[in-house]
Amino acid sequence: MSPPPTLSVAVVGWGMAGPAVALALARQGHRVTAFERVPDPQPVGAGILLQPTGMAALATLGQLAPIAERGAVIEHLRGLSHRGRVVMDLSYADLAPGLFGLGMHRGVIFQVLDAAARGAGVQVRTGVEVAQAHPEGPRWRLSDGAQDLGAFHLVLVADGARSTLRGQVPLRKSVRPYPWGALWRVHPDPDGTFPPTLHQVYRDTRQMLGFLPTGLGPTGTVPQVSLFWSVRLAELDAVRRGGLSAWREQVLALDPRAALLLEGLSDLDELLVAPYLDVTMPRRFALTPGGGARGGLAFLGDAAHAMSPQLGQGTNLALLDAVALAAQVEARPGDLPAALAAWDAERSPHLRYYQLASRWLTPVFQSRLSMIGPLRDLLFAPLARVPWLRRRMLDSLAGVRTGVFSTLPLPGLPAAPVPLALPPPHKVTTS
Ligand SMILES: Cc1cc2nc3c(=O)[nH]c(=O)nc-3n(C[C@H](O)[C@H](O)[C@H](O)COP(=O)(O)OP(=O)(O)OC[C@H]3O[C@@H](n4cnc5c(N)ncnc54)[C@H](O)[C@@H]3O)c2cc1C
Repeated sequence: MSPPPTLSVAVVGWGMAGPAVALALARQGHRVTAFERVPDPQPVGAGILLQPTGMAALATLGQLAPIAERGAVIEHLRGLSHRGRVVMDLSYADLAPGLFGLGMHRGVIFQVLDAAARGAGVQVRTGVEVAQAHPEGPRWRLSDGAQDLGAFHLVLVADGARSTLRGQVPLRKSVRPYPWGALWRVHPDPDGTFPPTLHQVYRDTRQMLGFLPTGLGPTGTVPQVSLFWSVRLAELDAVRRGGLSAWREQVLALDPRAALLLEGLSDLDELLVAPYLDVTMPRRFALTPGGGARGGLAFLGDAAHAMSPQLGQGTNLALLDAVALAAQVEARPGDLPAALAAWDAERSPHLRYYQLASRWLTPVFQSRLSMIGPLRDLLFAPLARVPWLRRRMLDSLAGVRTGVFSTLPLPGLPAAPVPLALPPPHKVTTS
């Protein structure tokens, strides 16, 4: 039997999905070149919650252990009203004994995947902003607008929520900004003040404070915690004009423990601002026209399905896109159209579910709909005690749900409640 044909692959964007898919394809023997617009990409970014799905994708890539050892185990999601009423209390272990999430600094995942992909032979060209993709015979030719960047059998676009190439390819899409975003700060928590919980406090739907333990970060030795604060973007200037002490007072009124994470903050401009986009693409791949061999171009991660981080799924979905795409290419050697069609069909239900769920859930926590907050505070906890609903809430948190009646059958993930076989991650000690 002849060996599978080697593909020339371009990966556009070196964030989460980019290095993951590049690593998997390089290991299959394909020639992979990655383009990243940032000249010197660093392990930067805020805290994210890695779900069991994202961990399973990283385990498939053989990269979970070095990432998990710098994360913080998250056992619960707990949400309280500003009056201290429990709105949400979901524990991963209720889904499967031993299951957990990992609070992470995004930069840890980047650092590990970047090194592994380079080690597998991926050529990474930084400081290059890909601006155009044109079909040319059985390949896609890329350029930065001035210079030719080469022609490739397969172009994987992982250039994030504000993708440039999304506008270049005739695929149906919708891109809508959310009116709300978040202010972020990551700060050391040397004494483990914050338990292994994603903890949120809500005052109706206009204020939300959150704490997420995020482990050691890319190079640190002291556990860190991310603080996030919901903000209506149109009101950001007014918040800034109001000044640091007025804002600080509002934050501490929701949870005085925030004082630790605000230590040393001298100006509101020092907080990171994260706006969100809602992106949908019903079909996420295109082929070069004509018969015979055809080149493929596919959108992965936020470029195809950015969403509000309310359900904490973005990185996980991006990693699953990457692993699933590489598996389909491997399963259908020499038939890119079939591989991309199978990948798109495989990922669709999962992506559709989380896009819909994020879109419906976000206004329940971030909006000016004054009736929703009190209803949420009243109804969420009793509804979560109904076993059928609780199961769906837990699955949704863990990242495995694909529809009201279906979940994701992932290798290494519990279809029946079996714990993931994970290496012991760094665990934040709690007082
Ligand atoms: C406030 C906030 C909180 C979040 N919390 C979570 C969470 O708890 N859990 C979770 O899973 N996810 C979370 N996310 C989402 C997560 O950060 C994203 O889903 C994830 O980073 C997407 O990965 P990606 O590879 O698709 O894109 P990105 O990580 O955005 O990477 C895209 C890369 O492409 C590069 N690029 C862009 N354009 C070009 C171009 N034309 N040419 C070359 N390079 C280009 C960019 O510089 C960047 O390096 C959160 C997001 C936000 C904003």
